Amino acid sequence: MPNANNVYDVAITGGGLAGLTLAIQCADAGYSVILFEKEQYPFHKVCGEYISMESYQFLERCGVDLQQYQVPHINALQLTDVGGHIYSFTLPLGGFGISRYTLDNALYQIAINKGVEICTNTKVTDITYNNFFTLQTTAGIFTSKVAAGAFGKRSNLDVKWKRNFTTQKPDKLNNYVGVKYHIKYAFPSNTIALHNFKNGYCGISNIENDTCCLCYLTTADNLKQHNNSIQQMEEQLLWQNPALKTIFTNATMLYNEPLAISQISFAKKQQVENHVLMIGDAAGSITPLCGNGMSMAMHAGKLAFEQINNYLKGAITLQHMENNYTANWQQQFSRRLWIGRNVQRLFGNNTSTAIFLSAMHKMPWLASKIISATHGNTY
Ligand SMILES: Cc1cc2nc3c(=O)[nH]c(=O)nc-3n(C[C@H](O)[C@H](O)[C@H](O)COP(=O)(O)OP(=O)(O)OC[C@H]3O[C@@H](n4cnc5c(N)ncnc54)[C@H](O)[C@@H]3O)c2cc1C
Repeated sequence: MPNANNVYDVAITGGGLAGLTLAIQCADAGYSVILFEKEQYPFHKVCGEYISMESYQFLERCGVDLQQYQVPHINALQLTDVGGHIYSFTLPLGGFGISRYTLDNALYQIAINKGVEICTNTKVTDITYNNFFTLQTTAGIFTSKVAAGAFGKRSNLDVKWKRNFTTQKPDKLNNYVGVKYHIKYAFPSNTIALHNFKNGYCGISNIENDTCCLCYLTTADNLKQHNNSIQQMEEQLLWQNPALKTIFTNATMLYNEPLAISQISFAKKQQVENHVLMIGDAAGSITPLCGNGMSMAMHAGKLAFEQINNYLKGAITLQHMENNYTANWQQQFSRRLWIGRNVQRLFGNNTSTAIFLSAMHKMPWLASKIISATHGNTY
C-alpha cells in the first residue's frame, strides 16, 4: 500500500524479467511497489529463451519453482557457419530453457501474491522528478520516492527522452529485427545451436513441454531486400544454410504467424536517466549471440535493489544511489557488453564468420575464454 499521501516507495515501468524481479525483491523488503506493464499476461516475447545457469538460484529465491516446469538443462553448443559446417563446443556453466510466456507469467503471479500492485494494459507516458517521481500513465498519475525504468530494448519513453540510441544513424550495432517461433522438432535437449546466415544467426534450443524455441536476429536491411516478407527472407536467405533448411522444412510451427520486433539496438546506453534507474535492456542490451540478456536484466535488478534499499532506509542520498548503481552496473557488465559487441561485428559476413568459428574450433582455450567472458557468475 502507498503511504497516506498516496506515494509509493518504488514505481517500476515495464514488467519483463528485470522489472518483475526488482518488484519482488522490493516487496520482500517491505516496500510499497507499483509496476506498470503495457501488455496483459501471459504473453509471448521475441527471445531465444536460453537462460544462463548463473540465474537459476536467483529465480528460485524469487519464488519460481523451476523443477515444476521440468526445464531442459543445456550444456552443449553447436555453431554452423553460413555454409552449414558444424563446430561443437561445451558450455562451461551451461543454461536451461523456459519460455517467456511461462516465466514472466510465473513472476507476475509471485509479485501479486507478495503485494505488488500491478497495472497491466497500462502504458507509462512520462516520468518526471521534483523531490518525488511523477508517473503519467494511461491509467492516471502516480507518485513514488524511487523510479526504475525496466521498459526493455526500445520504448516510447526512449523516444520521448531522445535517448542517444534512438537518434543515431543505422550502423552495424543498431537497426536489427528479431523473429521467433515455438516449434515441435526433435532436437537434443542438452544442446543449443546457433546457425549463421548472411547478416544474421538463428538459435534453436528446447524449452518446457517438449517444445523448441527457434529465434533469429538479422538486419532490417536483409528484410527490406526481401520485400519486407519474413517468409521470402527465410526461404531465400536462411535456407542457404542447410541446417536451417532442414529445421524450417521439418518442424511443426506452433504459432499462426511469426512473432517479430524491429529497431533493436546494441549501442551504449546510460544507466540513469532523469534520476530514473534503468535496469535490464533499458540500461544496455547484449547481443543475443552471447546469449545472456535475461541474466543481465535480472542481475541489474538485484544491483538496483541494493542501492534502492540503502536509499529508502536513509543510509545514502539519491545522488549516491544513482552513482553507486551506475558504478556497480558498469563494473559488472561493461566488459561483457564490449565483448558481445565485438563478437557481433565478426558475424554475418560469410568469410569472417567461417574464419572466426574455425579459429575457435582449433583453439578450444579461445572458445572457452570467449564463452566464459560473455557469461557471469551466480548472483
Ligand atoms: C532475437 C533475440 C534473442 C534473444 N535471445 C536471448 C536468449 O536466448 N537468452 C537471453 O538471456 N537473452 C536473450 N535475448 C535478450 C533478452 O530477451 C532481453 O535481454 C531480456 O528480455 C531483457 O529483459 P527486460 O526485462 O529488460 O526487458 P523486456 O523483457 O523486454 O521487458 C520490458 C517490458 O516493458 C514493457 N514496456 C515497455 N514500455 C513500456 C511503457 N512505456 N509502459 C509500460 N510497460 C512498458 C514491455 O511491454 C515489456 O514487457 C534475446 C534478444 C533478442 C532480440
